[in-house]
Amino acid sequence: MNILFFGPNGSGKGTQGSILKEKYNSAHIESGGIFRENIKAGTELGKKAKSFIDAGDLVPDEITIPMILDRLKQDDCKNGWLLDGFPRNKVQAEKLDESLKAAGMPLNYIVEILLPRETAKLRITGRRLCANDNNHPNNIGIDAIKPNGDKCRVCGGDLSARADDQDDAAIDKRHDIYYNTVDGTLAAAYYFKDMAAKSDVSKYITLDGSADMKSVTNELISKL
Ligand code: AMP
Repeated sequence: MNILFFGPNGSGKGTQGSILKEKYNSAHIESGGIFRENIKAGTELGKKAKSFIDAGDLVPDEITIPMILDRLKQDDCKNGWLLDGFPRNKVQAEKLDESLKAAGMPLNYIVEILLPRETAKLRITGRRLCANDNNHPNNIGIDAIKPNGDKCRVCGGDLSARADDQDDAAIDKRHDIYYNTVDGTLAAAYYFKDMAAKSDVSKYITLDGSADMKSVTNELISKL
């Protein structure tokens, strides 16, 4: 099963994505995660991407598009994939569509997590990343997923906050890009929504992201 995942930063799409990855044994491709791994490892890609990420800007398309389209050609994607964080704008959506068609790869589901901008912002500033698995849910502002002291509530790993999650201007910029329906991320989502409306293969699903994590997972699984 091949799935595109949309949701504003802070909507829990990484967490939901990792639950689906386990359930369907598919490749979970997170564009932001790939950049962060490269920054940590000090690669050329990481060096190029860092300043854009810290400022809340998109990494330029000429870097991001080939990186993701190549990733989709790797062997582990043959079992199905889950793409999270890409496409982020309309150009990326068009290039992805072209590339999937050229490869004869179906797109089965497009999932959009709905969440008001103000709620998403509150969630971002409270979230903490576990050193062992970035998708272990930890948020100092949400009772149900509060960390265990300063350790991960799932595995006890060390926690940290992303620099771009603590910078007000960077958060606003990321949300400006996400909620932009003209050529931003929602424009990319709606590009595939229009496509799904005319297709027997692709289905567009929306989820209420303001519910708790388990309810969102249940709604997601019931709709797939
Ligand atoms: P995320 O972990 O999805 O919040 O992504 C973190 C940052 O990585 C974003 O704010 C962008 O700077 C960069 N990034 C992730 N995905 C993309 C993409 N599809 N296009 C351009 N930049 C991206």
